[in-house]
Amino acid sequence: MGESKDSRPSDTAATPIGIVGAGTMGAGVAQCFAAAGHPVVVVDPDPAARASGPERVRSWTRAARLLRRRDAGPVEGRTVWTADLAALSDAHFVVDCAPERVPVKEDVFRTLDRICSAETVFASCTSAIPIGHLGSFTTRPERVLGTHFMNPAPLKDTVEVATSDATSDRTVRRTLDLLAGLGKQAIVVGDGPGFVSNRVLMLTVNEAAAVVEAGTADAATVDRVFQDCFGHATGPLRTADLIGLDTIVDTLDVLGRFTGDPRFRPTPLLARLVAEGHVGRKAGRGFHSYASNRSPVPSRPAGADTHV
Ligand code: NAD
Repeated sequence: MGESKDSRPSDTAATPIGIVGAGTMGAGVAQCFAAAGHPVVVVDPDPAARASGPERVRSWTRAARLLRRRDAGPVEGRTVWTADLAALSDAHFVVDCAPERVPVKEDVFRTLDRICSAETVFASCTSAIPIGHLGSFTTRPERVLGTHFMNPAPLKDTVEVATSDATSDRTVRRTLDLLAGLGKQAIVVGDGPGFVSNRVLMLTVNEAAAVVEAGTADAATVDRVFQDCFGHATGPLRTADLIGLDTIVDTLDVLGRFTGDPRFRPTPLLARLVAEGHVGRKAGRGFHSYASNRSPVPSRPAGADTHV
C-alpha cells in the first residue's frame, strides 16, 4: 500500500473529472460529478451515446431534484462529450464506465496510463473484473481502485469501493473524499471477481432466469417472491432488466473466467434474450416489457408490463 512522495494533486472542483463511456453508468456518474460542481469530460466512441448524453444528464438532474432530499446543483455547461480519449490528459480522477469486457478495459487503461499525469487516479465502475487485474494494465497500480456506483448513479447514495493489494491508502482517501463531496457514502471491500455485490447478485439473477426457463414460475412471479416474501424493493429479474441483460451476460462471463466456476455460465434464456436484442429496460424489453420505452416489441398500454 506504499505510495511515493509526489506533489499533492488537486482534487478540487476546478480540475476535470474524466469519464470513459457515456452509457447507462457513464451518463449517470457524469451527472453526479457535474451536479457537485466538477467540470466533467466524457469520452465515448459512439456518436449516438455522445449525442444523447447531455439530455440524459439533464433528465437525471430533474429526477434527482424531484426524488432526493438534497438539491442537485446546476449541470449546464459543466460536461464536455468527445470521442477523443486524449481529452482526459488534464483529468486528475478518471472513472472507467466502458463495457464490461476485459480487452476493452485493457485498451482503455493502457491508453489512459500513457496520456494522464502520473498522479491521476483511475477508478473503475467495473461490475466484476478484479482491480488487481485492471491495475496490471498500468504503471500505477497504487492509484487504481473500483468505484462500483449503483444504477441509477444519481439516485443511489452508496458506492462499493473495491481495493486491490496494491491500492494505496492515499488513493482510497482521495476517492472517499471525492465521493463524500457527491453526497455518496462508500463501503470499502477487498478485491475479487464481482467483489461482494455482483459475486452474489449475478448468481441470483442467473438462477432466477433458470427458474423461469424451467417453467417453475414466470418472471413476474419470481420477482414477487423476492418482493413479498423477502421485502426486496424489486425482484432479481426486474433488477437485471435495469442493469441491462447484455451487461449481465458480460459480467457472468467475467465471473466465469476469473473464478472458473461453471455456475456463472449464462443460462440459455439470458443468452437468447440478449441475442434477440431484448436487453432490458434500455431496449424496452427484457424479462419484462416497458411500454413507455423505445421497444422492439409491439406497443402496449402505458404502464403495462409483460413477462417472458
Ligand atoms: P453501456 O453498454 O450502457 O455503456 C457503455 C458505453 O461505453 C457505450 O456508450 C459504449 O459506446 C462505450 N464504449 C465502448 N467502447 C468504449 C471505449 N473503448 N472507450 C470509451 N467508451 C466506450 O454499459 P453500462 O451498463 O454503462 O456499463 C459500464 C460499466 O459499468 C461496466 O463495467 C459495467 O459492468 C458497470 N456497471 C454497470 C451497471 C449497470 O447497472 N448497468 C451498474 C454498475 C456497474
